[in-house]
Amino acid sequence: NCSGNHFTNKSGVILDMSEKKEILTTGKAKSLYTTSDPSKLIMEYRDDTSAFDGKKIEKLAGKGTVNNRFNAFIMEHLESEGVKTHFISQISDIESEVKKLEMLPIECVVRNIAAGSICKRLGLEEGIDIEPPTFEFFYKDDDLGDPMINEYHINSFGWGTEKDVEEMKILTLKVNKILSKLFLQADLILVDFKLEFGRQDGVMYLGDEMTPDGCRVWDKETRKKLDKDRFRQGLGDVIESYQEIASRIGIDLE
Ligand code: ADP
Ligand code: UDP
Repeated sequence: NCSGNHFTNKSGVILDMSEKKEILTTGKAKSLYTTSDPSKLIMEYRDDTSAFDGKKIEKLAGKGTVNNRFNAFIMEHLESEGVKTHFISQISDIESEVKKLEMLPIECVVRNIAAGSICKRLGLEEGIDIEPPTFEFFYKDDDLGDPMINEYHINSFGWGTEKDVEEMKILTLKVNKILSKLFLQADLILVDFKLEFGRQDGVMYLGDEMTPDGCRVWDKETRKKLDKDRFRQGLGDVIESYQEIASRIGIDLE
């Protein structure tokens, strides 16, 4: 329900949204648009789904809608717990308004349980507890396959300062505490996840997204995988599983 620069959300609240202008970037799963306000962007969640650095690609109907709603809920929850995020408001089924950030080309990963690349790299059995949770940086570059890097690399190659490194570690570990609790209340285990950060006016914000595309979530009792591993491993019911996580943590998808 949109007229002019005003959008009425489903609670009847009129949002003053910036006018969508032109496409800024098209990533593997989302597109970013400039707006009439240079400090804000519109993030569009597409149905495109990719894995293995873009080598496996499919469109999964409804993913954009679930992920946009999922991300809005998580970002609002994190804000309520004192984490600064780029999220401003959800403006349609597949779009949200966000602060425009200068992104650091870094992926921050926290792991509570061994799965995915750490199992191969360190010869670990999938499913073992990692205590205390461990932290990894990756350099965001598809052509290089997002290589794992250390904090010295971030500084030496000018991807971020020592202060950026400290802030990203503290914020990602804080997000892990907040979200592990939220998921556990729904009998879900937050196995691992990836975050990206950026700055606006010198302030660091959590950017990008926090959705089942960028984390691993298992049912606590059965350890059934409910995240993007269902797509990576061809297990089926990908969107149904994203919807299950959403409804279990209290997200209204209607
Ligand atoms: P990718 O191909 O990197 O997986 P996505 O489809 O997820 O990309 O597109 C999102 C892109 O937008 C990423 O490059 C991400 O770093 C960037 N981005 C996320 N949030 C913001 C923001 N608030 N401001 C500017 N860029 C952002
Ligand atoms: N991840 C992501 N984007 C990436 C790489 C990883 O969102 O480009 C997420 C992934 O979904 C998982 C966590 O980060 O929740 C750790 O991923 P891992 O290093 O195990 O890589 P994978 O084997 O999943 O490629």
